[in-house]
Amino acid sequence: MTRDVRRYDVVLVGGGITGLMLSHKLSRLGLRLLLLEKQPTLASGPSTRNEGWLHRGSYHAGSIRDRENAVQVARRCIYGHEQIRAFAPEAVEDADRTPLVLVRDVDRVQELTSRWDEAGVWYRPRARAAAVSSFPAADLSRAAAIFEVADVSLNTRMLYRKLYTSAQQGGTEVLTGARLERINGLEASVVTADGQTLHVEAGLFVYSAGFGARDLFRDFFKLELPIRYWKSHLVVVPRLGAHGLFYVDPHEAAMMHHGGYSIVGLNEDALLCTEPDYNVIEEKAGNLHRALERLVPGWKRGTPFTDVACTKVDFSPDAGAARSLNIAIHEPVPGHICILPGKMTETPFLTDVLTARLYERLEDGLIAKRPCDVLHANLTLHRREPSHAA
Ligand SMILES: Cc1cc2nc3c(=O)[nH]c(=O)nc-3n(C[C@H](O)[C@H](O)[C@H](O)COP(=O)(O)OP(=O)(O)OC[C@H]3O[C@@H](n4cnc5c(N)ncnc54)[C@H](O)[C@@H]3O)c2cc1C
Repeated sequence: MTRDVRRYDVVLVGGGITGLMLSHKLSRLGLRLLLLEKQPTLASGPSTRNEGWLHRGSYHAGSIRDRENAVQVARRCIYGHEQIRAFAPEAVEDADRTPLVLVRDVDRVQELTSRWDEAGVWYRPRARAAAVSSFPAADLSRAAAIFEVADVSLNTRMLYRKLYTSAQQGGTEVLTGARLERINGLEASVVTADGQTLHVEAGLFVYSAGFGARDLFRDFFKLELPIRYWKSHLVVVPRLGAHGLFYVDPHEAAMMHHGGYSIVGLNEDALLCTEPDYNVIEEKAGNLHRALERLVPGWKRGTPFTDVACTKVDFSPDAGAARSLNIAIHEPVPGHICILPGKMTETPFLTDVLTARLYERLEDGLIAKRPCDVLHANLTLHRREPSHAA
């Protein structure tokens, strides 16, 4: 009996923002795609358990120590911010209210603004009295400088719905509740939510599985990817003010808003952990509550709140290295590519870089090659077959 094998250009494993955005982009190039998500709903991990902060470079230009890296991440955030706003303007929240940035350490102000200038971050100084009237509940007395920036809050669910719809219209097949059972070369078996086994074959497999990538490569390829887990905490409270409000200094609070709620994180308080989970660590949640109390004294009085814990991932071959939430594209096994965006806001940059690379590998010859493509094809051929190069 012959097996029924479904053929795709790319199988994407993981339906968070990265998998959804890549499906949207690759499907628009006419590629045949299968997107597999193991959970019953899409984007149930960090992609919805985050602050929903569509960065625009202001925070990372200041929070990353190395200047070159900070400016590069800030530029990628601006790129991602503009692309997401253009794709889903209706998902932008509070578009008419600019957030306020607070800088506690006066010695950092000059370096920060020079990084903003270099990266192209939009900002303008805000007088203290005006800032106080914008956010009366906040204590701004510890801030040495206050600026207005162009970051916004994002309704991530609406963005993901739009990406999903676009991918589906482009022909992407999406299976939720699906489990990869076996991988052999560029073939795989998938068990669907209703227990059927599908046999699939693809030109490439792309793993946009977030913290699930480590287990996938361990289980199917016996490979230990150098992926580390960093647990962070957020607290959700009834809305505390009209504008986003965040420090760039370590161990201070950063707050954005979604409708009637504020969501607050603590800068640089992530904990390196061995397994990803959503369990709240009381000590870390306490640090965050105290930082929020410093920013908005009395927020706790009588108000309900929810603590949220979630895990970020980074790729670092050096276990002792500092946290580096940078974009990553790795192909540890030929034809099997693992990708991590660093931040949600960097996903447009990551998926554009990867889309360009995949197009080079999968394009079908319908469009004529440019001279540089011809040279590249010749060089690649000669590299593969050294006898021709002689
Ligand atoms: C607390 C916190 C706050 C953050 N705040 C922000 C912010 O405000 N702004 C910002 O820009 N970034 C923020 N980030 C970072 C951002 O959330 C992540 O970079 C982004 O969500 C990663 O998206 P992803 O699609 O790559 O991974 P994920 O969201 O982890 O999605 C991976 C998907 O793969 C699925 N999966 C896993 N294993 C398998 C498998 N074996 N088979 C099939 N599917 C699988 C998962 O179920 C999941 O749906 C924050 C992160 C955290 C943890």
